[in-house]
Amino acid sequence: MFVSEALGLSRHASKTLEEKNILREAFIPHHFFSDIIEALRFDRKFGDIEEGTVVAKTINGVRTVRGFPKIRRALTLYPSIRKHFDREVAIEEKMNGYNIRIAKLGKNLYAFTRRGYICPYTTEKVRKKEEMVDFFRDFSNFVLCCEAVGEESPFVPKKIYGIRELDFFVFDVREIETSNPLKIDEKLRLCEEYGIKHVPFFGIYESRNAHETVRELICRLGRDGREGVVMKDPEMKIEPLKYTTSETNAGDLSYAFRFFNEYGKDFMFSRIVREGFQSFEFAENEEEFRKRCLRLGMSILRPMIESIKDVSSGEWVSEKIKLRFDDIEVLELFLRHLRKMGVDFRVRSIVKREKGAVLYFERIMRSTTDKIKAHLEGQPW
Ligand code: ATP
Ligand code: MG
Repeated sequence: MFVSEALGLSRHASKTLEEKNILREAFIPHHFFSDIIEALRFDRKFGDIEEGTVVAKTINGVRTVRGFPKIRRALTLYPSIRKHFDREVAIEEKMNGYNIRIAKLGKNLYAFTRRGYICPYTTEKVRKKEEMVDFFRDFSNFVLCCEAVGEESPFVPKKIYGIRELDFFVFDVREIETSNPLKIDEKLRLCEEYGIKHVPFFGIYESRNAHETVRELICRLGRDGREGVVMKDPEMKIEPLKYTTSETNAGDLSYAFRFFNEYGKDFMFSRIVREGFQSFEFAENEEEFRKRCLRLGMSILRPMIESIKDVSSGEWVSEKIKLRFDDIEVLELFLRHLRKMGVDFRVRSIVKREKGAVLYFERIMRSTTDKIKAHLEGQPW
């Protein structure tokens, strides 16, 4: 089996991998993906192989794209930062979109989602980025780990960054086969050299007192509706830590409560706990505290009521999404891709343009819809 060979798995490990049914198809064969003959993704973590790792048989041989590692969260800034990092810590903005790994396989670029699917929509967008094409002409042994953000996002549509369509911001440059990251300064230098956008970089600080800087940054980012920060070892030897703004915690909650039956209880609970620790650490005054309480309460009740209203007026609870494609064939491929991912959706319309087409669809939150309907009809919990 080419996967075991590529990853150097023992006979025994290879057998376990098969028995546990961890490998799944990573893409839909299509001429848009012409460099790939076969590609499998890890649906779960396996030993030290991350979830989302992809092994692909390409026209140029077998290639592995390692999964993006989990980033743990700091619940307190002090003492977490000084305890976790060495002498210095680099601070970057945590942008709120979806995680994409970009790699060159054969002659073309491919965009892998966190779970290891090759996404047709994202791949089409990535291939239009000349600076990335230039970069990979010189460095096909690297992966660009990016946050894909914008209003036309199939997973996390957001207006706050002022990006109408979709754009990519590099946060890590890694070696394709090993997933070893470049140091922060090397990453920034390469991005600048090729004119590739990267997430905002706030500088390198002494970890001893970085908590004060981060706290100020978090308040400022929060006011702008932005997500938070990721703190990294400048050498990239120690794993990073993330920390988010109260506004983002509230934003997540509001999303989760709008679709409350599709989301795990852990998702909601952990965000409420974060607010507790932040409120404690920031030792805010009464007015700030009340503002936080109001924000938290609003983010829970308001969206839930919106969903109940939708169902009571006979609609589905859903999320409406608009995506533009240059090639209608890629649009069709994307719809097949959504089905393969198990997304429950309904196409509202497809509008043809002189070049390509616009897809309007909605993600249907069936479980929340059914739950609300049942209660509105008098069913006890
Ligand atoms: P994880 O499993 O990594 O904890 P998650 O899916 O729960 O992630 P998040 O809470 O959004 O996601 O946090 C990690 C994600 O943040 C990364 O996977 C990446 O997509 C995104 N991200 C945004 N900006 C950065 C950055 N500057 N550095 C690293 N990751 C970033
Ligand atoms: Mg995220």
